[in-house]
Amino acid sequence: MQILALNLAGQPFRWLSAEDAVTYHAVSKVAWTVGAPVLLFRGGVKNDGSRSLIASPPIIAVAGSEAMSRLLREAIPMGDRNDLLFRRDHHLCAYCGDEFHRGELTRDHVLARSRGGRDVWSNVVSACRACNERKAARTPEEARMPLRYMPYAPCRNEHFILSGRNILADQMEYLKAKLPKHSRWLG
Ligand SMILES: [Zn+2]
Repeated sequence: MQILALNLAGQPFRWLSAEDAVTYHAVSKVAWTVGAPVLLFRGGVKNDGSRSLIASPPIIAVAGSEAMSRLLREAIPMGDRNDLLFRRDHHLCAYCGDEFHRGELTRDHVLARSRGGRDVWSNVVSACRACNERKAARTPEEARMPLRYMPYAPCRNEHFILSGRNILADQMEYLKAKLPKHSRWLG
């Protein structure tokens, strides 16, 4: 299970492991929380011999996280993995429009790298192997393979939706509440 960490302004800055979340609670760095507790941890033995319990809600705002949060630039890096890209595109091939498993999809550069196309969110789409091979280094216009959807760089909240694993309902609701209206994750 992952806990969503926010800065004090309410912006997400990291997915935390259960252990990391408990550490923030233990050192009293949690300023406020959202949602009912989803994690229960046994702490140290107290003076009366009983063990303390730490309960963590699914979303915690961490004091002193402003510096870490600033490191998250507005332009979210693509990362090496294709998972984020395929999830952005809902596992649909940009050219034939069919849905594929992640092993059948590839990262296609709309303007090929051999022709100066960059490896950035706004120039890459998910493509099935057949379409990728057929298009080769041509542009969609040259190949007469029009894009079914436009590539775009995810905003911060979308990035957290794309990079989260087994996102809990409270967390998804929080992240979706602040998405731009054009986001494919709405509606
Ligand atoms: Zn295809």
